[in-house]
Amino acid sequence: MATNRTGTAKWKHLRREVLQQAINEGVTHCPRCRVLLDYRNGTAMNGATVDHIIAYARGGSDRRENLQVLCRRCNAQLGKKARPNPNRPKSVSKITTTINW
Ligand SMILES: [Zn+2]
Repeated sequence: MATNRTGTAKWKHLRREVLQQAINEGVTHCPRCRVLLDYRNGTAMNGATVDHIIAYARGGSDRRENLQVLCRRCNAQLGKKARPNPNRPKSVSKITTTINW
């Protein structure tokens, strides 16, 4: 269980696939704010990023159907609004309580 999901090799691979698919499909603009996407500079405000349509924290999956290309600014705005589900346990830690009789 990686703590930083977006740092995993699997995510990097998936992200690249989604971006490549968007390029192949001719997606040149952010579907949300219509800014021209910069696929070569992901750190620019209009840089192309991969967003979870349903946030992972809300039970969204890493499946392609749940991923979309957004500009960095939209992705950041959506990320701010997303609140993690408070009922979701942060970690499933082993019960380490030992009873000393
Ligand atoms: Zn945008």
